[in-house]
Amino acid sequence: MELSDRIFDLAKKYEDYTARNLSKLIQHKSLSMGEKEVAALLKKMMEEANFDEVKIDGLGNVIGKIGNGKKVIAIDGHIDTVDLGNLEDWTFDPLGGEIKDGFVHGRGSADQTGGPIAGVTAGKILKEIGLTNDVTVYVVGSVMEEDCDGLCWKYIVEEDKIKPDCVIVTEPTNLNIYRGHRGRMEIEVSFFGLSAHGSAPERGKNAIYMASKAALEIEKLNERLATDEFLGKGSVTISEIVSSSPSQCAVADFCKFHLDRRLTKGEDKELALSQIEEIVSGMNAKVELLNYKETAYTGLEYGMEKYFPTWVIEEDNHVIQNGIKTYKDLFGKSPVVDKWTFSTNGVTINGVYGIPVIGFGPGNEVMAHAPNEKAPIEHLVKASAFYAYYCSIF
Ligand SMILES: [Zn+2]
Repeated sequence: MELSDRIFDLAKKYEDYTARNLSKLIQHKSLSMGEKEVAALLKKMMEEANFDEVKIDGLGNVIGKIGNGKKVIAIDGHIDTVDLGNLEDWTFDPLGGEIKDGFVHGRGSADQTGGPIAGVTAGKILKEIGLTNDVTVYVVGSVMEEDCDGLCWKYIVEEDKIKPDCVIVTEPTNLNIYRGHRGRMEIEVSFFGLSAHGSAPERGKNAIYMASKAALEIEKLNERLATDEFLGKGSVTISEIVSSSPSQCAVADFCKFHLDRRLTKGEDKELALSQIEEIVSGMNAKVELLNYKETAYTGLEYGMEKYFPTWVIEEDNHVIQNGIKTYKDLFGKSPVVDKWTFSTNGVTINGVYGIPVIGFGPGNEVMAHAPNEKAPIEHLVKASAFYAYYCSIF
């Protein structure tokens, strides 16, 4: 019997096991920095699946290990979710984890605890059949992704000292193979004016007027940003504007706006900042790339710049080709190769550290952050087979 058939058969055999594991995780709310319970559960599942080693690192990431080979592959999925939103928009209990009509229902099923759960089943399969090649496989349940994508992998690379040869990002791809997405950054621009009595505005310098002029230029900047055939266009928008003045009968002496900048291929931090600097040159203004810092559920305070670099892996790269072969061998047809609309841990894994990434995950990305989120059990089965076989032929 072919290895691919053997693995797919086992994944099918473990269908109920996989669905039930996901259901169990969904029943515990797991917001960013509040992943403790789900992390402990996932760790227990990996131990019961006979992983060689399972640990929780200082940031709270769950890291299960199988094998001790030269080539290192990590299967990554974040175990935090966004909040439930308006409960009236849900037709079922978002924390119920109901298994019905071929789906596992609830918050996180698609985005994206289904990924690491399929990773656990893949590990169980690999332990059962034995590793056939010289690899080490990590299954990672990472934390804080919804709050700051990529931060967890900064910790894994820099503190856990794990630098894989390949990472499979298991965010929802609808079982397509994804090989990149646009980057992003968060920029703040502050304008400093001079207040004067509102009855004599000519004595002051209005920070709101300064900001408004800059705002209109930013709107124009958005129009002329670069486009990439695969990733699409870079974009910039003002997402918030605040101002202050000593009184409502005074010239505003301060104004600040927040920019959401999406970066396409070829656009980086330096370029994006310089474009804004150019717009505000001559104004008394300050352009800043924001920083993220939060306390993980473990109590560790950790952070990084809010710069999430663009990443794209060429289709002929081994990590993508291995994925295409995996898909064909298992499912007998060619996969769709595409990209994510949103951002993932790939921003640091590949964008910062240059580790090759392939995206493949159960669930549909339109379900992410939406009410009535659910994941097809068929996807969970196929993803677990994909991960196990991918590692076996890497
Ligand atoms: Zn996600």
